[in-house]
Amino acid sequence: MQQNKITQAIRIQTERTPEMEHSTPMFLTSSFCFNDAESMRAAFADETDDNIYSRFSNPNVQELIDKVCVLEGAEAGYATASGMSAVFGSFMALLKQGDHLLACNSIFGSTHTVITKYLNRYGIAYSYISATATEQEWAAAIQPNTKMIYVETPTNPGLDILDLKMLGKLAKQNGIILNVDNCFATPLVQQPILLGADLVIHSATKWMDGQGRVLGGVIVGRKDLIKEIYAFCRSTGPALSPFNAWVLSKSLETLEVRMERHCSNAIYLANALQHNNKIAFLKYPFLPTHPQYAIAQQQMQNGGGIICFELKGGLESGRNFLNALQMLSLTANLGDSRSIASHPASTTHAKLTEAERLAVGITPGLIRISVGLEHKDDILKDIEQALQQC
Ligand SMILES: *Cc1c(COP(=O)(O)O)cnc(C)c1O
Repeated sequence: MQQNKITQAIRIQTERTPEMEHSTPMFLTSSFCFNDAESMRAAFADETDDNIYSRFSNPNVQELIDKVCVLEGAEAGYATASGMSAVFGSFMALLKQGDHLLACNSIFGSTHTVITKYLNRYGIAYSYISATATEQEWAAAIQPNTKMIYVETPTNPGLDILDLKMLGKLAKQNGIILNVDNCFATPLVQQPILLGADLVIHSATKWMDGQGRVLGGVIVGRKDLIKEIYAFCRSTGPALSPFNAWVLSKSLETLEVRMERHCSNAIYLANALQHNNKIAFLKYPFLPTHPQYAIAQQQMQNGGGIICFELKGGLESGRNFLNALQMLSLTANLGDSRSIASHPASTTHAKLTEAERLAVGITPGLIRISVGLEHKDDILKDIEQALQQC
């Protein structure tokens, strides 16, 4: 009987040990034993998929991968120590000297650093394109040596939406790998592979953990590509710790109910705040006023757990807003059970010039709220009182 993927994300489990435990135990072991020389030889020759060493594979890690594969509709996957090692692994395993990477410029800050500062050391060229580029502009940006397209949608922190179906079609027509960081949406909100992506990356640190405890990353997608990524990672060592995998796998059992609440709280706040007199504009993918509302409706099942708004008072108001908050946390994470506020212009993106910030959609008074699981009226009250002070 084919089960719903939500059921599978709850029920997929490492084979029960002779102890007959109900919950998956932690396999905190660096290596695995063999009964004889022949079974060890066969494992090393890839004739069996027995575990050998936890840098290669581990039951807790595999359980997490299997769940993410089901949720994303992917053939295979590999889990890494952080979201960034997933991003880096996907680049280094699949790009080589002379290749070109075409990336959207509204991407996670460290990903931007990897592309601009490090890829060229290995002879990999790149170019950036705006999150609001049209299909014609994307097509024109593809070069004969373009090997991979890399995007995030919704973008961070500006919440622009990129048309994944259009990018999937373009990538397929040109024989290019479409690599999508799906961290912001989670597989409960959007499944890029079903829209044409070849690879999907997650920082499991965010919504997947959902409680701000551990770092982790996952790459899932086409079997032939994952094989290359596995070979690269198995030798270079960004493996996910079994402890973190255990935490993350448990978290996936509640991802659907958590995302439902994150999203319903987020749209409640978006509606309640959009006409606030201190706010110039508010963006949420499922508000009809969002510039790419139509695409969001097509490719997302709901609007996600992040809202952002621009304060009329600009940079100084942004700082005042953070200082006036009483409950919301000021912290660099997102996707937590506790609501978090951030002001990119004075923190994560302070090193950029104002022109550089504007190019990636970061206006001076932009506030990003990662909407938590607290009662919606408590979150709203805190934001409203802080707005009145800036
Ligand atoms: C946090 C984040 C990453 C990096 O993940 P880490 O787990 O912090 O290494 C990559 N992409 C996006 C969109 C993120 O939010």
